[in-house]
Amino acid sequence: MSEGGYNEEIKVLDIFDDKELLKLAIGRQCMEQGKQYKTTRSSKERFEVVCLVENCSWMVSARGIKSTTAFQVTKVVDQHTCYATNLESNYRQSKKKAWRAKQYALLMLRGTQEDLFTKLPSYLHNLVKHNPGTVTQIRTDDDDRFEFVYIALGCPVSSDNFL
Ligand SMILES: [Zn+2]
Repeated sequence: MSEGGYNEEIKVLDIFDDKELLKLAIGRQCMEQGKQYKTTRSSKERFEVVCLVENCSWMVSARGIKSTTAFQVTKVVDQHTCYATNLESNYRQSKKKAWRAKQYALLMLRGTQEDLFTKLPSYLHNLVKHNPGTVTQIRTDDDDRFEFVYIALGCPVSSDNFL
């Protein structure tokens, strides 16, 4: 389910070609819900994330499929029991695509800084793929540290917008 399933919600038994695609899908779902996640387990055999808010029941768990890089979702608790954050209410007030793209970039910066460099290029890749005309640029400073990401959105391909 690498292509067609990209815009769908993460469900039990869903298979992702590799862990990065799974993380991307989880990140996107969190962005839509105005939430942030943290990784509690990440190995070849297992990948598990929970809501950043302590004691919230939301979580996604997946297992590595033997002798492949693919991961299959084994458990999803889709309901957040945490209170709505400012981010979520802001999100609901705003429908502006540029704002959403910016928020997603900010979410990734805050929530999953450790793999920003591996995640951001694939996020941008998908963004361009689903929104032709989109211009993206990652700027780094002299020490090769992330400085900013520039995103100018084009038109979505279909009605189920990627962003
Ligand atoms: Zn939550």
